[in-house]
Amino acid sequence: MGISNSVVAQVLQSCDRQRAQMYFKSSLTALSHAMEDLVLTDSDSPLIIACFQRERFYRQEAHRYRRIARKTNQVYVLAAPETEFKNCSDVYETVAFEPSDALAEEWHLVVIGNRYTACLVCHEKTQPETATMSDSFIDSERRFEGIWTFDPTVSRRAASILLDRIAIYRPELQAKIELAYRLYITLEDTQAPTGLVSNSPLTNPDPFVQRLVTYLQAGQYKLLKANKSLAAKQQKERLLNSVIDAVRRSLDMTEILQIAVQKIGEELAVCRCIIYRCRETDNVAKIEREFVSEEIPSVLGKIWQLKNNPLFEEAIAERKTVSADDTRQDTRLTQQAWERGTGEQLQNIVENYQIVSWVIVPIFYQDRLLGALELHHCQEPPVVWQEDDLALVDAIATQVGIALIQAEAYTNLEDLNEQLEALDRTRSNLVAITGHELRTPLSTIQVCLESLAAEPDMDPKLRQVMLDTALDDAERLRNLVQDFLTLSRLESGRVEWNLETLSIVECVELAVSNVKARNSDRALPTIEPLTSKNLPLVQTDGEWLVEVLAKLLDNACKFTNPDGKITIAVKSNGSNHLEVTVSDTGRGIEPKRLETVFDRFYQEEGALRRSAGGTGLGLAICRQIVHNWGGEIWAESLGKDRGSKFHFTIPIAVKTSNLDDGRSSARKKPGKTPKRRKKA
Ligand code: ADP
Repeated sequence: MGISNSVVAQVLQSCDRQRAQMYFKSSLTALSHAMEDLVLTDSDSPLIIACFQRERFYRQEAHRYRRIARKTNQVYVLAAPETEFKNCSDVYETVAFEPSDALAEEWHLVVIGNRYTACLVCHEKTQPETATMSDSFIDSERRFEGIWTFDPTVSRRAASILLDRIAIYRPELQAKIELAYRLYITLEDTQAPTGLVSNSPLTNPDPFVQRLVTYLQAGQYKLLKANKSLAAKQQKERLLNSVIDAVRRSLDMTEILQIAVQKIGEELAVCRCIIYRCRETDNVAKIEREFVSEEIPSVLGKIWQLKNNPLFEEAIAERKTVSADDTRQDTRLTQQAWERGTGEQLQNIVENYQIVSWVIVPIFYQDRLLGALELHHCQEPPVVWQEDDLALVDAIATQVGIALIQAEAYTNLEDLNEQLEALDRTRSNLVAITGHELRTPLSTIQVCLESLAAEPDMDPKLRQVMLDTALDDAERLRNLVQDFLTLSRLESGRVEWNLETLSIVECVELAVSNVKARNSDRALPTIEPLTSKNLPLVQTDGEWLVEVLAKLLDNACKFTNPDGKITIAVKSNGSNHLEVTVSDTGRGIEPKRLETVFDRFYQEEGALRRSAGGTGLGLAICRQIVHNWGGEIWAESLGKDRGSKFHFTIPIAVKTSNLDDGRSSARKKPGKTPKRRKKA
């Protein structure tokens, strides 16, 4: 059974002058350490009694008591056992009191020496249960109530109460305890021999105070350090939040990249922070955004080597941030790179861009590489990248990845919206066209057929006129339906492409003869033969090529008077394409309409007032075909009545200039004349 008497209460009762005070745990630790250190540094051999509440608190201090025990053989350490603490007379006396003893709630340290006495006796104030259970309750919040004094009377009183308690738990120590009494406590009544404990309070408390100040300073220093690291953490958290906030708010990829490099560059005070987008298979990437501090050379817009850069390769393979503190010492960039044969290349990069310390942070989104972020330190001495800085950049890279994906999704959505709008326009146009284009010829056909049916005796000439009109309008209907189906097939990608190696000259000839045959009933402007020489073969689907040429020629014929002229020219445009130009001397196109003529159903007169025939789908079809083989198509005109030029490009199949005018080789393999395709 534990003893319920509180030592603190007993001491207070017997010392009227003493008033209990409140102490935080950290103050008691500082006071206890100062008292213990005083013992350790002084030559005195005092009586020491320390009560630790529980074994776990004692364990942290056991090493100090082993040292103290070398100074004096009157050391008593008390604690409630938890695992191995027990009554024992080893280097000093340990006293294992009952956990239910009032001592379990008390913290005592009594030191009675020759030149000084000090005593600390406190009782722990119980915390409200809710506080001790809550996560926010911390050890340093523990509070104690009691006395701390140098007063020898109080100290001896506390020592005697504690020695009595020890005698109960360790009766076998009776003789030793009595000696302690004689030497340190009862001298007051028994005439203290000179040199032993005097009645006077501590004559020179300076060394003790010095110790205490050192402890307080050390505590303050620790607090400052903790505050600093807390402030740095908070600052980083703020940076992360502000980057997340900014990049998440933007749906513009360039802006997202700029914000990321700017904020990281400024906050981490790096010499250079760059960002680029790339895929895992890319060998190089173009640096899209950059932050550089003063006097550091810019790398913006440069083509950045990814393949053979061991840091980049490692970052991608391991899917994590990779750093090199000193690029000249890092074996991956030196020894290993030279062994792989990439040493010189890397050395050039490091030297040209003054990269002394290097970090590469891959930007992934669900295992898909979107790009990378790099930090360069470009001045001596090299930096040692801090783990929490790298973790921060890593976190930002993750957020940039998410923002990029969002922006990409938004762009796709915008494209989709545009397509939907275009589709909607087509649908509305189709309704208008159907209203006019289909209904008008249909009603004409109907009127003609009704008249023919109602008047069997109609004059043969009039009958012929009626029949011709009905047939013409039926043809118009057929063309419209056909063009519309062709455009739909091209736009939906449902067209099969039969790639052939062809002679452009033969395709032009075929298209010209088709146009002439189709317009045999009317006078056409002069179509000049193609005069271009030394043309290489082209690689495409011949039928679609003839279709484009025929449509452009049809238009040229339609919008040029019979006394005008149409020419077809082909030239190599310096890349891997030929440029074909169909020019006419006809009515021309206003400069502001040069792009819109390619829109579906665009007609200068407006779809509903069309006079020149046609469906308004011809150029839209041409653009789809040309884009399909990777070419471009555009119109050129000086304006009204000043003629038009339609250009388009087409990929070259074999790069050769040995052909005289393309005709001779086109007749041989591999050049072929396109076959006529049956239309849908
Ligand atoms: P359409 O069936 O009406 O010819 P297109 O798509 O082929 O349809 O052409 C669209 C419009 O572009 C024409 O209606 C015309 O206004 C203009 N256009 C096309 N080619 C020429 C040209 N060679 N000269 C002048 N205008 C042209």
